[in-house]
Amino acid sequence: MASAPNRTLSTTNVGATLVVAPDAETQLVGVLGYPVRHSLSPVMHNAAFRHLGLNWVYLAFEVSPESLPDALRGMRALGIRGLNLTIPHKEAAVALVDALTPAAQAIGAVNTLYWHEGQLMGDNTDAEGFLHALQAAGWQPSGQALMLGAGGSARAALYALKKAGCRVVIANRTLVRAQQLQRAFGAEQVLPLESQALRPLMPAVQLVVNCTSLGMEPDSEAMPPVPLDALQSEAWVCDLVYRPVQTRLLQTAQQLGLRTVDGLGMLVHQGALAFERWTGQPAPVEVMEKAIRGALIR
Ligand code: NAP
Repeated sequence: MASAPNRTLSTTNVGATLVVAPDAETQLVGVLGYPVRHSLSPVMHNAAFRHLGLNWVYLAFEVSPESLPDALRGMRALGIRGLNLTIPHKEAAVALVDALTPAAQAIGAVNTLYWHEGQLMGDNTDAEGFLHALQAAGWQPSGQALMLGAGGSARAALYALKKAGCRVVIANRTLVRAQQLQRAFGAEQVLPLESQALRPLMPAVQLVVNCTSLGMEPDSEAMPPVPLDALQSEAWVCDLVYRPVQTRLLQTAQQLGLRTVDGLGMLVHQGALAFERWTGQPAPVEVMEKAIRGALIR
């Protein structure tokens, strides 16, 4: 698909509110999911377009799994400039694009579609977005990480941590799933997700990453069984769960004086990377983060 220039947005100032006026030049991007109405991505991306004065709009499309091939044919026919994919489409899209980036190929999941020299590219910005979120908080990629979970987000996080040169131990409730990840990405060790099994390891761990759904609403009193009290004081704790933003795991870590990174960091940074793939412009990360935090606490 030809790459159209980034035309600026036609806007009207009504009081303090900038009113977007889509016209025949407006470029369309969006997210496909099922369900998708809870998505924070439209708020984040549309805030970025408004901030930069770009005549682009980001919409959410509820697309069932059986309709995904039709939706991507529609994307090609309509000249949609880019898409994000969320649950349950990330794995199915691998077979529906023209080419995969090395990250999407290795992780086996696509969260971003963009055009490159007429080819529909399947990319995975979750892994790099996860690393950027940690680095933006001040974490230096090194040493021993303990990753809790072995699902979709764990695949992206493990790929990123190994690429950044960390040693990784995976702890998961279902051991066989952790062993599959270990075989795919070369983690150092696999353990059951149990406090007693993890305790001897903790003094050597520099980063704990929760990639399980434990602690997510509505069960926000839950937290993974990890003995944070046995960590060294300079260790980091990162939770990928972002509803609620301050999970019980993060609250416990903060009470122990540990450094924390919440799940919105990864959400913002994976979105920022997608924004850059589509527009070719640096993403206004702070604007995107402010929009998403504002939407969550509204
Ligand atoms: P997933 O593929 O369904 O994996 C879920 C993981 O949680 C599995 O390891 C599962 O263990 C574990 N788990 C679930 N219930 C458990 C329980 N009661 N006890 C122990 N372990 C349990 O999910 P996902 O896509 O990886 O997402 C995980 C979380 O990350 C979700 O809260 C999601 O919203 C969040 N997330 C955030 C971002 C972001 O940008 N911040 C991105 C992606 C995902 P088993 O293998 O034993 O079933």
